[in-house]
Amino acid sequence: MKITGLETIPIQGRSMILRMFTDQGIIGYGEPMNYEHWRVVAQAVDDMAEYLVGKDPLQIEDHWQTMYRSSYSRSMPVLVGALSGIEMAMWDVFGKVVGMPVWKLLGGSVRQRIRVYTGISGNTSEQCAGSAKKAVEAGFSAVKMGASTQPVRFVDTAKSIDTMVTRVAAVREAVGNKVDIAVDLHRRLSPAMSVILIKELEPLHLLFAEEPCHPENNQPLLKLSQSTTVPIATGERHLTRWGFREVIEGEMCAVLQPDIRHCGGILELKKIANMAEIHNMALAPHNAAGPIGVAASVHVMATVPNLLICEGGHQRGEGLFKTPLVFKNGFIELPTAPGLGVDMNDEAIESVRDETFRLRGMFWHQDDGSFADF
Ligand SMILES: [Mg+2]
Repeated sequence: MKITGLETIPIQGRSMILRMFTDQGIIGYGEPMNYEHWRVVAQAVDDMAEYLVGKDPLQIEDHWQTMYRSSYSRSMPVLVGALSGIEMAMWDVFGKVVGMPVWKLLGGSVRQRIRVYTGISGNTSEQCAGSAKKAVEAGFSAVKMGASTQPVRFVDTAKSIDTMVTRVAAVREAVGNKVDIAVDLHRRLSPAMSVILIKELEPLHLLFAEEPCHPENNQPLLKLSQSTTVPIATGERHLTRWGFREVIEGEMCAVLQPDIRHCGGILELKKIANMAEIHNMALAPHNAAGPIGVAASVHVMATVPNLLICEGGHQRGEGLFKTPLVFKNGFIELPTAPGLGVDMNDEAIESVRDETFRLRGMFWHQDDGSFADF
């Protein structure tokens, strides 16, 4: 069996579909990273196709090692993003060849279904509370919200802290104490400010507080974790085992959030989870884009013991997948179709194609006009 070509299609929702064609007519699907620079990722996929075309798609580890280690720029997010989508597609082909879902090929499942959460939003406390209630009515037992809709100063005012705490408190009030709430600090707060805010949030019993500092600088995580009873989470911008090593070996936080679309793919996510397992850290994979990534995460999380919860519960491929993911009572059922189970028809793909280029995270402090971290 040989790979005959790769194709990428950017789609709505910061997502991208990758199709791997083979000489036996089997098509593998994957999802490479698509934030701002999808054109660079698509070009990287085309470059990697020059190596892959003519090769056996079932030599997954060998191709990953070759494509990752042969590049001088190997740890660049856009390159690992391209590689992640390609690796996913090879697993999809493998599953289709043997007629089994990918989770079976990864060692079988250690759980019967995957708990998922969805994001909630709103500018005001009332809007956040309303959004949370809707999520609970839709069947979710856990939600995640942003801490702030505004830029936050390195050390900000008592009013800024009060506003952030009030938003979360309104959600707790709306959903009661049987629903989990996670708060995403979005790298927007300085470590000094995160310590203050997270302490104030302790009485609200959060599932976790996410990205209280920028991943370019891991050191504050340990101090933050030691400063609070709130479990600290990070990892949506960390890549590969090497990128996670410092955080895992230093036991710097409680929850890791690799994103399968750019952490290195299916096997790399499993390896990161296995490294975390021996340090008593849980996984809450990041999935803020498309349904192929969610499905691929579900397959991996079926096979690792240290899953906490998976993001992207609303991204189930309805209207896109021939067999959408099945959601019931806050959980996604294990897919049973061969491969990743994410096959789509061509019209479905065309209906969501989106080739717009836009920069995200353009955010300024209103008082002095200086740029603020998104
Ligand atoms: Mg986040």
